[in-house]
Amino acid sequence: MKVIAGNWKMNGTTTGLKDMISALQNVDTENKIILCVPYTMLGLDSGRAFLGAQDVSTHDHGAYTGEVSASMIADTGAKYVIVGHSERRQYHSETNDVVRQKVSAALSFGLTPIICVGETMEEKRAGKTMEIIESGVRESIPNDIDKDIIVAYEPRWAIGAGLTPTTEEITEAHTLIANTLSSMGLSGTPILYGASVKDSNAAEIMSIPNVDGVLVGGASLKPDDFIPIITSVK
Ligand code: PEP
Repeated sequence: MKVIAGNWKMNGTTTGLKDMISALQNVDTENKIILCVPYTMLGLDSGRAFLGAQDVSTHDHGAYTGEVSASMIADTGAKYVIVGHSERRQYHSETNDVVRQKVSAALSFGLTPIICVGETMEEKRAGKTMEIIESGVRESIPNDIDKDIIVAYEPRWAIGAGLTPTTEEITEAHTLIANTLSSMGLSGTPILYGASVKDSNAAEIMSIPNVDGVLVGGASLKPDDFIPIITSVK
């Protein structure tokens, strides 16, 4: 069983989500399907898929105009939340410290965080890929957690760019993440790969050791693109 998670970013409509949910009903798969959609679309009956948000406040309630807390996300029936996506890190200056607080907030209200880590092109060129990945994992996850989390390796330079790392690069990154999680007492945590996943590369990527599924951006918006990714692996 693989985890196939979609990240709709700031795209889509409620009608589009209903169409996706109904298209997913007939798909022959045992894979877990998660759709992380804008807050405004949470609360729908999501059929066989699970809904998730794309960010969460570090705060629980109060005077934080525009923010949405973990308890509010959980109140919609959503089960997941993406935390530390590269676009949050880039446009909202989220650091590993902030991400860790958001992970704690999510876990306190029963949400499973999908924690994103990955290097920028600048960091890759400077030979810092492994260092950024390991510190991302160690610093974005609170100590001594006993609840489920998911980690997603998303090389930031490859997101939305139609670029993917080599099989060797993905293997190396996922092995490092698996070993780091194991040293933190978190072995068995699903590790997703994300960045420019599509129908034509999904099965190959998911055959790499320690790749337990994929986080899909652009190709998760339309059933015709997303469903072949879901059915590309058993
Ligand atoms: C993402 O933003 O999480 C992502 C993986 O995007 P894309 O698939 O479009 O590269």
